Amino acid sequence: MLNIVLFGPPGAGKGTQSEKLIVKYKLKHLSTGDILRAAIKNQTPLGLEAKKIIDKGELVPDEMVIGLISRELDEHKDAKGFIFDGFPRTTIQAQELDKMLTSKGLCINLMMVLEVEHNELIKRLMNRGLQSNRADDQDVSVIENRIKVYDEYTKVVADYYKAQNKYVAIHGMGSIDEIFERLCQAIKEYQ
Ligand code: ADP
Repeated sequence: MLNIVLFGPPGAGKGTQSEKLIVKYKLKHLSTGDILRAAIKNQTPLGLEAKKIIDKGELVPDEMVIGLISRELDEHKDAKGFIFDGFPRTTIQAQELDKMLTSKGLCINLMMVLEVEHNELIKRLMNRGLQSNRADDQDVSVIENRIKVYDEYTKVVADYYKAQNKYVAIHGMGSIDEIFERLCQAIKEYQ
């Protein structure tokens, strides 16, 4: 099994790179953002609750995303591995993910962190906002708040994986293919 945490601020390219990685390594993509957006689209009670928080650029409660991930892990027992995208976003989520994986005899193998300059993040998110109907990408103050939340609550999750020697920094500027090559190289070095 190959279980990867793809990490980085909003707009770092986690979703884009995950789509390429799952094809090459035959992994299952678990994006809490995508799962939450599906719940919003289906207007489930959880989705309605999450929408209010997501539209402000805040984090949804840990229990909510932990429950969603737990269900996904149970539903994909035959997966060759997982890419966790947008999760864990707090140290509590990282600890709970470890507990869930350990109980299944699994673990995280690698955390890859996409490093991208602040101005580039804003540019990419604004651009995505023009092309998609994501409300949280269409308001610069919400974008700035998400980056602030990342710096305040999420960035520190990297230390959790550093302590386990699972952390690799990846230069996240350049073309999609160049960045993909860097990620593949890091996986190769790990394997
Ligand atoms: P991005 O990383 O581009 O901001 P995501 O699609 O990963 O976008 O997440 C969108 C929003 O969903 C976040 O701003 C947050 O409100 C919520 N969210 C997603 N994953 C989590 C998580 N693991 N914990 C808390 N909130 C989350």
